[in-house]
Amino acid sequence: MSHLFSSADKKQVVEAITQAELHTSGEIRVHVESHCPSSSLDRAVFIFRKLKMDRTAQRNGVLLYVALESKKLAVIGDAGINAVVPPHFWDQVVEKMQNAFAQGLFVEGLCVGIQEIGSKLQAFFPYDASDVDELPNDISFGA
Ligand code: CA
Ligand code: CA
Repeated sequence: MSHLFSSADKKQVVEAITQAELHTSGEIRVHVESHCPSSSLDRAVFIFRKLKMDRTAQRNGVLLYVALESKKLAVIGDAGINAVVPPHFWDQVVEKMQNAFAQGLFVEGLCVGIQEIGSKLQAFFPYDASDVDELPNDISFGA
């Protein structure tokens, strides 16, 4: 999947994550693959664990999962987030991303999603000076 992204695209996504994490202690990651073999939610949970995103101190990792060919998308947060946010917390994020994707704006859609996640997380997991970057800000590419 990596070949679909220019180095400028990748840089833009990494920058969006880095910027978003300036506002929150939460850890945002992006996984992109071609086909989703199950429901987008099940797959996102599987990838979340595979990327060891369930090992943050505050359990506040958020995964943005996209399967390009399958046209599937999911945003999931770890237990620390789910315990404090209302249900459907991520719906608006998903909707904004879908709108961008529908216009063929893929990288922009990812970046909008990342920004939205950052600002939503800010209220529950504000950034503090002792924050550690627990998970890499780069894109994880599947097959
Ligand atoms: Ca952090
Ligand atoms: Ca990070």
